Amino acid sequence: MSDYSHARSRMVDVQIASRGVRDKAVLAAMREVPREAFVEPGFEEFAYEDIPLPISEGQTISQPYIVAAMIALAEVEPGERVLEVGAGSGYAAAVLSRIAERVYAIERHPSLGEQARRRFDKLGYGNIELRVGDGTRGWPEAAPFDAILVAASGPDAPRALKEQLVIGGRLVIPVGSDERQQTLLKVTRTSETDYEEEDFGPVMFVPLIGEQGWSEDGRRSA
Ligand code: SAM
Repeated sequence: MSDYSHARSRMVDVQIASRGVRDKAVLAAMREVPREAFVEPGFEEFAYEDIPLPISEGQTISQPYIVAAMIALAEVEPGERVLEVGAGSGYAAAVLSRIAERVYAIERHPSLGEQARRRFDKLGYGNIELRVGDGTRGWPEAAPFDAILVAASGPDAPRALKEQLVIGGRLVIPVGSDERQQTLLKVTRTSETDYEEEDFGPVMFVPLIGEQGWSEDGRRSA
């Protein structure tokens, strides 16, 4: 396999650090995880361009900058337990696993989940647990989480995810009904019953499909 370490380091300097992501742990994790191992065969040479790339099941591996920006926004710290909804290729979960103590990742497509698991095994990332299913319900048996990141856009922040945050926990999720542009939302749990919401501008994600997301035909579920 080619050595992509120079391209990876350049990506972090040029596309991530210089665009405002300052969190040292995030930058170090992005320097460590080989994105070329998470793209489809034949796309390795594009792994360090700041673009989403196609993966199977009509999904995408997110753009590196947005992965870094979302993790920084979620303020993930060493020792924390994090949930990622929409594991896709497994790349963002892999980056999270280099910072957090334990990562729980959920993906709705079994074939993507299986591939991501194989990649974690191959890289020796033993602190990630992946489940196939509907992530809009969260992972009640493993909750509560210090941070939850959602890599697909829903109509709003799912109640189940908000309720699975510790007090002080952060949920970062794209929301909105326009498929070409959504808003990145950060929800912080401030007490047993209260949440604070902040809006971090326009983003573009694939839809979050599930019980507390969109239905397969694009309508709001339940
Ligand atoms: N984090 C991924 C990565 O690094 O490759 C990005 C994957 S893609 C932008 C979003 C993923 O969310 C897709 O793989 C899609 O199948 C998944 N997804 C959509 N709705 C979901 C749900 N309710 N539960 C779990 N995964 C879901």
